[in-house]
Amino acid sequence: SHHVLEQQLEHLDGRSYSAYKRLKGSYAFPEFELTLAHIQGDPFAAPSRVSLWGSHQHSQWPEQYWQEPARRVVLADFLHRQINHVIPQIQQQRGSGKSGCLRVAPTSQVVLARTAVQVTSDGIELRLGVGLPAFGRRIAGQAASELLMQDLPRLVRAALHYQPEWVPDLEHHIATIEDANALRQQLSHHKLVAFIANGAILPRCSGVDPQPLPAAVPFTSPKSLEVTLQAPHAGSLTGLGIPEGVTLIVGGGYHGKSTVLKALSHGVYNHIPGDGREQVVANAATVKIRSEDGRSVTGVDISPFIDRLPQGLSTKVFSTTNASGSTSQAANILEAIEAGAKVLLIDEDTAATNLMIRDRNMQTLIAKEKEPITPFIDKVRQLYEDYTISTILVMGGSGDYFEVADQVIALDSYTAHDVTDQAKAIAAAHPSERQGEGGQNFGTLTPRPIQLTPFDTGRKPAKVRTQRLNTLTIGAEDIDLRGIEQLVEPNQNRAIAHAILTWQQQHRTHCLSDLLDDIMTWIDRQDFDALTPYPMADLSEFRRYELAAVINRLRRLKVLSGR
Ligand code: ADP
Ligand code: MG
Repeated sequence: SHHVLEQQLEHLDGRSYSAYKRLKGSYAFPEFELTLAHIQGDPFAAPSRVSLWGSHQHSQWPEQYWQEPARRVVLADFLHRQINHVIPQIQQQRGSGKSGCLRVAPTSQVVLARTAVQVTSDGIELRLGVGLPAFGRRIAGQAASELLMQDLPRLVRAALHYQPEWVPDLEHHIATIEDANALRQQLSHHKLVAFIANGAILPRCSGVDPQPLPAAVPFTSPKSLEVTLQAPHAGSLTGLGIPEGVTLIVGGGYHGKSTVLKALSHGVYNHIPGDGREQVVANAATVKIRSEDGRSVTGVDISPFIDRLPQGLSTKVFSTTNASGSTSQAANILEAIEAGAKVLLIDEDTAATNLMIRDRNMQTLIAKEKEPITPFIDKVRQLYEDYTISTILVMGGSGDYFEVADQVIALDSYTAHDVTDQAKAIAAAHPSERQGEGGQNFGTLTPRPIQLTPFDTGRKPAKVRTQRLNTLTIGAEDIDLRGIEQLVEPNQNRAIAHAILTWQQQHRTHCLSDLLDDIMTWIDRQDFDALTPYPMADLSEFRRYELAAVINRLRRLKVLSGR
């Protein structure tokens, strides 16, 4: 029990730091159980891994907040934010190095299942890093006792236990998330791929600050595209419904096109109250596509877009260590489809022009026989007709797309207008006179059996490092994640990396889509521990599309031939 721990700390006072190791184990406190899962080797090393578990009997949170699995994630997210709020008030420097520090994983603008705080049907678990106190390299027994016997129980009481004054905020948190889920669920019934409620705030403070831009122009839908959906808590919500098919977003530079597309790309997540995008939702299978020259591509059939490369290079099983703008974008599209994407988002700012358009004059100058690329404009309708994959495209620079779009939305000083009829009239009066390219069908999709060259060298398991959203290192391999724009927390990267390592250690060959199904089953059950060598405190839930995107960028990926 905790008395034993207290005695041991007294006994260890002044001894060499490594003697802390013998404290590893679990201790019963009156209101929770403390587990010292891994103990740091010295006061400057990564903090010790600690978990605190309390039953609902002790936490006192009413059943209605944790009975349903979906609500558990929301309660955990809410408590996680409270913890990060109170830690600076509780944490004290208690010696040298990291002595006394309390570290809990960061959150973001969205609600996700995370390993740091988990609510189950039995209770609440908090996983944190704790800096066990030292003076120099000697154990500071008294300080350790204050940390473990006072700071941690205070943290549990202040941030995990039921507080009646939090109920309004928690209920708002729950209502916001349940409304977003309900809106997203209604999309397909209305044949929509996305919804932006009137009044939503889309722009962010800056490229590095995800808070809503103060004094932003709130979103308003054009009347002709307005729909009203039902939210269980907020009631009827009116806004822009983007129908399935091909949607073009046009408008002058700096009028807010990319901002709308970016908000849609994040509409696959549920945002916290106050974010501005709480009622912006997209089909869960929405994937942002961009060009990404320099990435590696392994065994992807990009022949719907590119074939007959110079020197007779095959594009049915296309691999390169250094893709061009167009080949990288073609690979990104086919990989997203393979992973199950149903909506593609493309912004001209980050697209390869030669993959997007090829106008009549260029068709006349450069014969099709000399051009390996079939532009997206000839494929975008087939994608919808053959595979019911919709596209939302920002395109301010070419009117050729008027002919293939189902609807055209113009942004004018951040205000959306429906200009479909005008665009169609212009296209009828001035036809592009392009020749259709690339045949009548999109092309077939072939499953890819994949394998990985092992990450770990010798006996040491490969280490995972990630500091920012766009960096990830697994073992010796740096993976550039800049092209994966729908990652929202670095701890998603970390979770993806561990999922890949765990799969790879089984030395099995999988078709990529089957592998995604397998791994996502564990994520859906929120059993992250099944994907990691030991219970980790800094993992966040991820989507299958980002998992696939990381796997596809690994330079050690092998696609088995003979398919
Ligand atoms: P575009 O893609 O049309 O060139 P952006 O979406 O990049 O335009 O937006 C240009 C600028 O306008 C950005 O700094 C963005 O933050 C800002 N902005 C976008 N939407 C709004 C809005 N609704 N209210 C105020 N500022 C906005
Ligand atoms: Mg733009």
